[in-house]
Amino acid sequence: MARKYFSQKRVLVTGGAGFLGSHLIDRLIEQGDEVLCVDNLFTGTKSNIAHMIGHPRFEFMRHDICFPLFVEVDLIYNLACPASPIHYQHDPVQTTKVSVIGSINMLGLAKRLDARILQASTSEIYGDPVEHPQTESYWGNVNSIGQRSCYDEGKRCAETLFFDYHRQHGLPIKVARIFNTYGPRMHPADGRVVSNFIMQALRGDDITIYGDGGQTRSFCYVDDLVQGLMKLMESAEGFTGPVNIGNPVEFTIQELAEIVVELTGSRSKLVRRPLPSDDPTQRRPDIDLARRELGWEPAVSLREGLVPTIKYFADLAC
Ligand code: NAD
Ligand code: UDP
Ligand code: UDP
Repeated sequence: MARKYFSQKRVLVTGGAGFLGSHLIDRLIEQGDEVLCVDNLFTGTKSNIAHMIGHPRFEFMRHDICFPLFVEVDLIYNLACPASPIHYQHDPVQTTKVSVIGSINMLGLAKRLDARILQASTSEIYGDPVEHPQTESYWGNVNSIGQRSCYDEGKRCAETLFFDYHRQHGLPIKVARIFNTYGPRMHPADGRVVSNFIMQALRGDDITIYGDGGQTRSFCYVDDLVQGLMKLMESAEGFTGPVNIGNPVEFTIQELAEIVVELTGSRSKLVRRPLPSDDPTQRRPDIDLARRELGWEPAVSLREGLVPTIKYFADLAC
């Protein structure tokens, strides 16, 4: 009998030593799955998965998915890709490669195994959107030659590959468009707004608001996000997405700075810095499709989620 009919599943998580991947692995192990974590440790760390080492249902393999991978699994979560602008712009050619060549390898693996495969896509697919909020039917407004393009266009091409493997080879795919997510195990120095503001507030340094602070983002707590990904993986056979997974409550960057200062009790001052190029001015997911198809919506408010996140960063600093 094919292995997939046993209740215990063998799950491959690429990028499993990263922020989102390590939380996903915690939940998969909790529900009784066997997990193979494949990561080249470019931005991920062994400390994110240290608590799993030695677990009988957990295995770690150091591997770059730009190279073929021959393993036997039932489900694949493809999360491998640097996610923050500082990291993905460090080696932009490698960033495009991991989304394009890495995805081809993981799709080839899924095809050989007839395994269900989920792609961690991104709200960056929408670029600097001219439609607001963004629904999945919006095609986006992306610069193909800018500094963010290696990430945005790489992820767009990965979506194309997923849908072509689905149409051409009947591969069971799921595509999640993830919006800004935060929580414990974020990189303290990844230059992203939540980690920057918390670290600056904890150190008493100036809080650096790029531009006038009027640009918006919506921030999803990591536990909510992981639950959304798992519900998508378990969704009906015919449902491929793409589906937005994010928190629809929108904050300006100025508001975020003020909340972080309040929750940390910091004396930091808010200061202005130049806005990076191609920085989207507004971003908020329309999550009606996720509500309807997955019965999912976020449960954790920004203030609630920031408390454990601040604690994580404060513990790191000790
Ligand atoms: P992260 O940088 O913490 O995790 C990415 C992981 O992928 C790291 O462990 C890294 O070492 C690994 N990796 C990178 N290149 C690899 C390669 N070639 N082979 C094997 N492993 C490789 O980032 P994250 O925030 O956990 O993001 C996970 C996924 O979710 C990414 O695909 C990202 O694009 C997507 N995403 C994240 C967010 C967010 O807000 N965090 C938003 C949208 C999309
Ligand atoms: N691949 C892999 N593991 C597998 C099967 C395939 O890494 O178990 C890689 C393989 O290197 C190939 C890619 O996936 O380059 C795409 O595979 P596919 O079968 O779609 O294409 P082809 O092998 O015909 O180029
Ligand atoms: N940002 C900021 N100060 C910082 C870091 C980021 O004002 O120290 C702004 C940034 O210009 C952007 C928003 O916060 O408008 C979110 O940036 P992030 O890099 O976290 O994510 P992304 O732009 O990919 O959504």
